[in-house]
Amino acid sequence: MKLESFPRYPLTFGPSPIHHLKRLSQHLGGAQVWAKREDVSSGLAYGGNKVRKLEYIVPDVLASGADTLVSIGGYQSNHTRQVAAVAAHLGLKARLVQEKWVPWDDPMNDKVGNILLSRMMGADSRLDDAGFDIGIRDSWKLALEEVEAAGGTPYAIPAGASEHPLGGLGFANWAFEVAEQEKQTGVFFDTIVVCTVTGSTHAGMIAGFAALEDLTGVKRRVIGIDASATLEKTRDQVARIARNTAELIDLGRDLRDDEIQVLEGWAGELYGIPVDSTMQAMALGAELEAMITDPVYEGKSLAGLIDLVKDGDIPKDSTVLYAHLGGQQAVNAYWKLWS
Ligand code: PLP
Repeated sequence: MKLESFPRYPLTFGPSPIHHLKRLSQHLGGAQVWAKREDVSSGLAYGGNKVRKLEYIVPDVLASGADTLVSIGGYQSNHTRQVAAVAAHLGLKARLVQEKWVPWDDPMNDKVGNILLSRMMGADSRLDDAGFDIGIRDSWKLALEEVEAAGGTPYAIPAGASEHPLGGLGFANWAFEVAEQEKQTGVFFDTIVVCTVTGSTHAGMIAGFAALEDLTGVKRRVIGIDASATLEKTRDQVARIARNTAELIDLGRDLRDDEIQVLEGWAGELYGIPVDSTMQAMALGAELEAMITDPVYEGKSLAGLIDLVKDGDIPKDSTVLYAHLGGQQAVNAYWKLWS
């Protein structure tokens, strides 16, 4: 089925805005850097990349007759906050499993930021001691069973909405949105940089840009920056979801290996723990552009972009688009980094 034939339930204001990061570009002295802002594209609890994915999942939720969205993430999961937001918006319940994905032993970690917002929106958010894993978890299956046992009708949304069959569609469409914005602005983005962890954001973009390439003959680089610190799992998941999404939107060919690039070097040792390059990138984004990034995801992908531009891996005559996927709410739990 063609991408435009899939039902989409609007949860965003429309296309996410793009803008030139002039001072950052000047500072780096290489390629011109622009940002596309998923963090300001929805009125639902500050939005973020999951809202865009959920636009393609909500029609299936509504058709299923479910009354409870069941999902999973870390204590400071942006994803579960966005599931809670969409549930509130639709008048559904949300049951959230929040695992201890990050060994960040701040007493406020399970109280402020994302988890606070989820609770404000009425989600049933329960803590679990299990550590980080992007795969399917027993705790999540148990939560689904519990909702059923209590007489509810659950709808299962896996971590990051990535393993959901429709999880890649939101960002496949993002590629076409970029092409439209290029027409409006006259600026062409030859390189896209995106943070990748559970994989369907990057995977969706890969499928979408592949479809666009087949239509226009124009190639671009879509670079995923790993922030999972479990590189092989994320690489496999990105490749698998990209291929599934490509098939879903009738790409009609296999994806080439050069279309699936997940780069390592900026995740540090552990998911959720910032390293020096993360801190420097967050400071540069904030001080030069007032563009706030978080220490778990966007600070790491911004660090990757900065090094790739500085080292000339992304050449000087390039125009690069940084996908800002949201996540600023987590900075509250990381207050110690700036005190
Ligand atoms: N950036 C932010 C702010 C996120 O919340 C996430 C979610 O995991 C990501 C990046 C990574 O996206 P994905 O899980 O689709 O790879």
